Amino acid sequence: MSRRALVVGGGIAGLSAAYEFQQAGWTVDVHEATGRWGGKILTSDVGDRLVDSGPDAILARAAAGMELVRQLGLADDIVHPVSNVPAYICLDGRLHELPEGTVFGIPTDPSVLHSTELLSEAGKQRAAQDLELPVEHVDTDDDPSVGKVCRQRLGDELTDRLIAPLIGGINASNIDRLSMRSAAPQLTAALAQHGSLIRGMAALRQRAGATLGTERAAPVFFSLPGGVQRIIDALVEHLANPKAGHLPAADLKLNSPVDLSTLPELADRFDAVVLATAPVEAMNYASVSQVTIEVSKDALEAELDTSGILFPATGGTHLTACTWLSSKWSHYHHDDSVLLRLTSGRYGDDRANKLDDDTLVATLLDELQTAVPIDGQPQATRIQRWPNALPQYEPGHRNKVETLRSNMTERHPNVTLVGAAYDGIGIPACIESGRNGARQLLTPQTASQPVGSGS
Ligand SMILES: Cc1cc2nc3c(=O)[nH]c(=O)nc-3n(C[C@H](O)[C@H](O)[C@H](O)COP(=O)(O)OP(=O)(O)OC[C@H]3O[C@@H](n4cnc5c(N)ncnc54)[C@H](O)[C@@H]3O)c2cc1C
Repeated sequence: MSRRALVVGGGIAGLSAAYEFQQAGWTVDVHEATGRWGGKILTSDVGDRLVDSGPDAILARAAAGMELVRQLGLADDIVHPVSNVPAYICLDGRLHELPEGTVFGIPTDPSVLHSTELLSEAGKQRAAQDLELPVEHVDTDDDPSVGKVCRQRLGDELTDRLIAPLIGGINASNIDRLSMRSAAPQLTAALAQHGSLIRGMAALRQRAGATLGTERAAPVFFSLPGGVQRIIDALVEHLANPKAGHLPAADLKLNSPVDLSTLPELADRFDAVVLATAPVEAMNYASVSQVTIEVSKDALEAELDTSGILFPATGGTHLTACTWLSSKWSHYHHDDSVLLRLTSGRYGDDRANKLDDDTLVATLLDELQTAVPIDGQPQATRIQRWPNALPQYEPGHRNKVETLRSNMTERHPNVTLVGAAYDGIGIPACIESGRNGARQLLTPQTASQPVGSGS
């Protein structure tokens, strides 16, 4: 008799779990609360272009993303960013290049900071102290925050102006509340192996350089023309109509929120249950609001020559980043206009999320104009709110996840927790989380009393 799984949540993690069950020959029901698949993955129109509203860049190094794209037959379409030139940092309305020779904003040698005006002389000297400070100087907390360690070793100025926008910007985090082990494990390794963040980043860069010397430089990210949502569309199509005829079609239900208080009954009815929901109650989340604009090329004085601009929190702006989408991706190129995505909101700063649409657009445009003057109004504007969208991996994150999972296994051995709240927020990490969660339940001994069919 065919075994039956329930997947709750139709984002990338839930759909990946469903794919895994289907490949193993299980029947799978997927329930999604909203009227569309994909969760945070969403592509919609800006002017006449289809533009990603959520994620636009998938880490190529992490195998799970590329593997799924190949399995879905989309690999021939992938594109890479036009250039890997890093973003600018905006300080007091002026754009500064990231100093050459920094990794995550950390210098690989104090000399690489000499010519930058991003830091004062005192700030540069303070950063160099990292080379002298004993490692014991680092707090021996089990899992300190990124901010705590970087401030102790490199000083506040470098931490606030370079490291916070680069490391904190990814998850819209406050780095003083961001787990170093979970969010920046490279820094933990640097300290453990080299006794200094600067020496650790130099070693990291050298290893990357050594690889580049022997192979063709591999692009860090990839995307799909037409949007990342194509992955979701292909995945849903595959689940509904599996190519291999012997695999059962999944039962896919939109507008079907599952009441999680009924979990004990669901665990009895199904052989396996995967909870791929977000947000998760035990986690804290950052909310972001994004405004994507199409602007005539003639309206811009600045040359959009990198992937965008980062705005450190110390500058007090609502804006956290401006991504120059049409400079970053060739499929957004247009002869006459450019696309800019303005992002606001970070953990602990909800000012922008509280503004009404018109005020949000006006505020973000005003702030951008201090650094990048725009003559006239956008030709097209799209507003996207992402409330409680980015889980915050606070110090102690791994222990928290282990406890949540072991409590669940104790109560319901055939239920598992997957998705961005647990194992990494990037798309490849969510795919892997969903797949691993399903695999773990495919093994008969881990499932409780199989009942054969759940519906
Ligand atoms: C603005 C933004 C930009 C990002 N940029 C990138 C990027 O460039 N690259 C990258 O790799 N990652 C990026 N991310 C992160 C990545 O998109 C997400 O971490 C990932 O898509 C989350 O997938 P998920 O399946 O875990 O959760 P979600 O996508 O949140 O899916 C969870 C689903 O569960 C549903 N649900 C919740 N409760 C129930 C219930 N009770 N019953 C049924 N359904 C329920 C929800 O409606 C939702 O559809 C970005 C995220 C955001 C918000």
